Amino acid sequence: MGMACAYCASDVDRHEPVYVTENPTAAEHEAFCNYACLSAYIADNQLTFGAACEWNP
Ligand SMILES: [Zn+2]
Repeated sequence: MGMACAYCASDVDRHEPVYVTENPTAAEHEAFCNYACLSAYIADNQLTFGAACEWNP
């Protein structure tokens, strides 16, 4: 597919791509080379993937 890593902009297909969606209803996914780029991206952006696990009575 040739997606670019959201963190370092490398072609993720050259690595072991990790795809993440921040919003379950969004069609767009963030792509990362690997978990290292993913974790670095989260740290840089102070994001918490998995925040969708909210209390939902
Ligand atoms: Zn990367």
